[in-house]
Amino acid sequence: MSNAAIITGGGSGLGQAAALRMAEEGVNISVVDVKEESALETVELVKEKGVDAIAVTADVSKKEDVKKYVDQTMEHFGRIDYFFNNAGISGSGGYFLETEPEEIEQIVGINLLGAMYGVRYVAEVMINNGGGAIVNTSSSAGVIGQDSVVTYSATKHGIVGLTKSMVAEYAKDGLRVNAIAPGPTETPMVKDFYEANPEMKENAAGGIPQKRLGTPEEVAELVTFLLTSPAQYINGEVIRIDGGFTNTK
Ligand code: NAD
Repeated sequence: MSNAAIITGGGSGLGQAAALRMAEEGVNISVVDVKEESALETVELVKEKGVDAIAVTADVSKKEDVKKYVDQTMEHFGRIDYFFNNAGISGSGGYFLETEPEEIEQIVGINLLGAMYGVRYVAEVMINNGGGAIVNTSSSAGVIGQDSVVTYSATKHGIVGLTKSMVAEYAKDGLRVNAIAPGPTETPMVKDFYEANPEMKENAAGGIPQKRLGTPEEVAELVTFLLTSPAQYINGEVIRIDGGFTNTK
């Protein structure tokens, strides 16, 4: 039986790119997204690569939806080997003292609580079945402080704590949990953010040692390596993929 992966935020950007790359490794994919159309689009593209895929419409900030995507994946594939815990939003980009509490709740709800619910339910299934591998999506803003993204940065630092502490508790049970910390990467999320904050776009590429943004395909390559490769001794790492950005800060 082929391996199966759950990818949240799988309808766009990093999630979609990872779904396509992992399909090339023969992995069946459960595509989870709050936008049904986006999830279905990824499923169609993934199936063109010759593997099986299902779309699950779910809001990761709702624990009952998280339970649903885990249950539907198990019903269809009977296993969860890999989990790319990736759905997230950036927020509007304003300064913290100008941010409405409702927006803080929304960002924390999706980026941090959503990721924690995902690990809570998926890791349980994995451990009951002998183990598995998880990649959580942090960010450059999860390893350094950055202005205009205070809430986002807090959630992405939280992802780092979640990653490391899960390893402390469950590596002995066959669980590997790593995080990626991408710098600005050319996905729809970033395009929307820079459209709303044009002054930040000019500075972004110029501030990166490689003088360009990352691509979703480059990130997908890292995620696929961390989840599917035989390099099974990498655990609790937070891997920066940012053209040298945070290491030269
Ligand atoms: P994206 O907007 O292209 O894709 C995100 C997907 O998540 C979308 O399909 C969206 O519908 C889905 N989503 C949003 N809220 C959801 C919810 N509540 N439940 C389920 N699905 C939901 O964005 P992306 O750039 O691919 O971002 C993916 C992840 O990568 C996010 O966690 C983001 O914070 C992180 N990240 C992105 C960058 C970047 O530069 N693109 C850099 C660092 C980290």
